[in-house]
Amino acid sequence: MRILLVEDEKRIADFVQRGLESAGYSIDLAEDGQSALDRIHAADYDLVILDLMLPDMDGLDVLAKTRNRKVSPPVLILSARGGVDDRVRGLELGADDYLVKPFAFVELLARVRALLRRGQPTPERLVIGDLVLDCIRRKVSRASEPIDLAPKEFSILEYMMRNRGRPLSRTMIVEHVWDMEYDGLTNIVDVYIRHLRSKIDEKFPTRLIHTVRGIGYMLDTHDKPSANSGKPPQE
Ligand code: CA
Repeated sequence: MRILLVEDEKRIADFVQRGLESAGYSIDLAEDGQSALDRIHAADYDLVILDLMLPDMDGLDVLAKTRNRKVSPPVLILSARGGVDDRVRGLELGADDYLVKPFAFVELLARVRALLRRGQPTPERLVIGDLVLDCIRRKVSRASEPIDLAPKEFSILEYMMRNRGRPLSRTMIVEHVWDMEYDGLTNIVDVYIRHLRSKIDEKFPTRLIHTVRGIGYMLDTHDKPSANSGKPPQE
């Protein structure tokens, strides 16, 4: 899950970015309206968290401009302007939710999760063989045995489970799970896959994580790509 955070106040940006990253999301930061628009045009975000008071333009103008596009990500407005007029205008312009500063991080996280779930009618649990991933509680077990995963490990596993039977390249995994700044650092994927294998596969008779030569990795109960692997990967 990739989120664009548009916030010029460094303290808040750091706080939100750190919190969301430790919850397993990948965050890009834009510090003004124009760079936010550039990023939204250049990449596919699952969610935009948008501050209203930006140095170069009003956040509502950023919102209006993203809403002109055919496909636009859900937008959560984050603002010190809690007046009814601002809320109504934001929601009228197509924002999906509105959170007034100051806010508690748990409140932000709950709204982020709700918006991301709304965007995709995905099951609450992903099951492949005896491997079960609970998307809501963010828990993983295999053969009923709980497995502890770090946030990034969880994100990679979730992405792979959602794309069962499809070979995923290292670049796809990096782009999905990390920030843009990780471009070119695809070796990190191998490191995480090694960790995942030791936790998910090592103790069990059936291997689920497979290396696909020349491409990357795939998760399934068998090591051949499934018939629907030609479809584009799902979020
Ligand atoms: Ca601001």
